[in-house]
Amino acid sequence: MKDYQKKLNVLILGAGFGGICTAKYLLKLTKKTPNIKITLIDGNTYHFFTPLLHEVATASIHSDHIKRPLRMVFKGEDVEFHHGEIEKIDLKKKTVEICTNYNSRDNPPKYDYYTYINKADFISDRRERFRYDYLVLAMGSDPNFYGVTGADKHSYTLSSIKTSEEIKARILECFELANQTNNLQLKKELLTFVVIGAGATGTEYLVELHDLCKNVLAEEFEFVKFNRDCRIILIEAMDQILPNMDPYLVKYAMKHLQDMEIEIMTSTKVTKITDCTIELNGKIFIPTHNVLWAAGVKANDLVASLPLKENSDGRVKVNSFLQAIDRSEVFALGDNACFMPKEGENPLMQTAQVAVQESKTVAMNIVKHFSGKKLHHFKYVFLGSTVSLGERKGVANLIGKFELKGFSAWFSWKLTYLRHLLVIEKLSRALWDWSFDLLYNRQMARFKLH
Ligand SMILES: Cc1cc2nc3c(=O)[nH]c(=O)nc-3n(C[C@H](O)[C@H](O)[C@H](O)COP(=O)(O)OP(=O)(O)OC[C@H]3O[C@@H](n4cnc5c(N)ncnc54)[C@H](O)[C@@H]3O)c2cc1C
Repeated sequence: MKDYQKKLNVLILGAGFGGICTAKYLLKLTKKTPNIKITLIDGNTYHFFTPLLHEVATASIHSDHIKRPLRMVFKGEDVEFHHGEIEKIDLKKKTVEICTNYNSRDNPPKYDYYTYINKADFISDRRERFRYDYLVLAMGSDPNFYGVTGADKHSYTLSSIKTSEEIKARILECFELANQTNNLQLKKELLTFVVIGAGATGTEYLVELHDLCKNVLAEEFEFVKFNRDCRIILIEAMDQILPNMDPYLVKYAMKHLQDMEIEIMTSTKVTKITDCTIELNGKIFIPTHNVLWAAGVKANDLVASLPLKENSDGRVKVNSFLQAIDRSEVFALGDNACFMPKEGENPLMQTAQVAVQESKTVAMNIVKHFSGKKLHHFKYVFLGSTVSLGERKGVANLIGKFELKGFSAWFSWKLTYLRHLLVIEKLSRALWDWSFDLLYNRQMARFKLH
């Protein structure tokens, strides 16, 4: 017999899409089962909306407008939030260890810089240990550089608010430097922007970057001419761009990018990156000081190191209830989970819509498992995918049935994201940025750049 009076500890690791939604669904369910304690841990104090990081990097949207403090999200609710770097997960002892004073994934602790605060008042390298009855792995993924020499050191990634801000600063810096030199060759090198990976992230960044360079920065900087000095290059190892889109939409997107005079190199492998060049297929060299790596993700290192049954890519293999195959008290979802809809089929992709849908099943199954009820099988419903191509154009596949291109696709892209942003924050401030963008010309909309 299970002890129904006992408080059950549910520990959610990671407050991204999967973690935050699991906590929200659990909250709803625990209104009927109040003896569940929900604890959420993340290395950031805020939740952020990854699909719009490219707009932060290209100054379309202010970074504050796509993030929401986690303490605010769960204010007045029965969710205990802890800020810290998750460092150790002991599946045998059912404990998790975090460090609460660490060089944060985004910002180091501020009090180190305040001379009027006595540092001795702070316990340095503070550690906390949590016990759990159920563990939810929702720690997301990291960029995958596929072992390409220099890629981790010399390229930027759209993986956090911090990296997106760094990209924005670097673009501006390259323009500043290019404006100060009469050496046309150097000017061109500084203004050669290379994007590696022609999936949705790389493509959406590329078109925003093109707009920023052509319509804003080249207009502002006196000694830069867009057509003479700027090169924007997209590199893809596969033989087409947007590999998950329908060929008809890919053709449209390809033509649109070509019309924008973006150089597209498909079937091309990046073999090395240095601080001033990239090497392609081991023989072609392009001088550049600005490389964005958007070629894919790999499993979170800590999750991949757990003694659980894993897919070859490090994601935890889960059953149809989203439990780890070898541990029924451990659930994994989103980018941490390898869920195969049917035996022999490809695992679900690492997307926010997968994480959000899985979170409902995870929350439900934790409560069901605890109360000894039959668990719910997870069923994924593809809601569609949309890609913005700039200039108020896009391509979209809605629920796998309807294909849109042009303005209607771009509009459905905005609506989809706005709907998600409104879940994080009731009156999304991103709406301000976009309205500003629509009402005034693009130049004025870049007010956040400087
Ligand atoms: C630039 C970009 C654009 C994207 N665009 C789309 C899109 O348009 N549509 C779509 O469906 N998907 C998109 N995705 C994918 C989507 O963001 C992920 O699939 C989704 O976020 C996965 O959710 P998750 O909960 O598994 O992990 P995440 O949302 O990544 O959350 C993981 C959380 O764990 C925390 N964490 C990780 N390690 C630690 C640690 N050691 N200690 C403490 N905290 C830790 C992180 O801080 C983070 O908050 C995009 C991703 C990127 C990077």
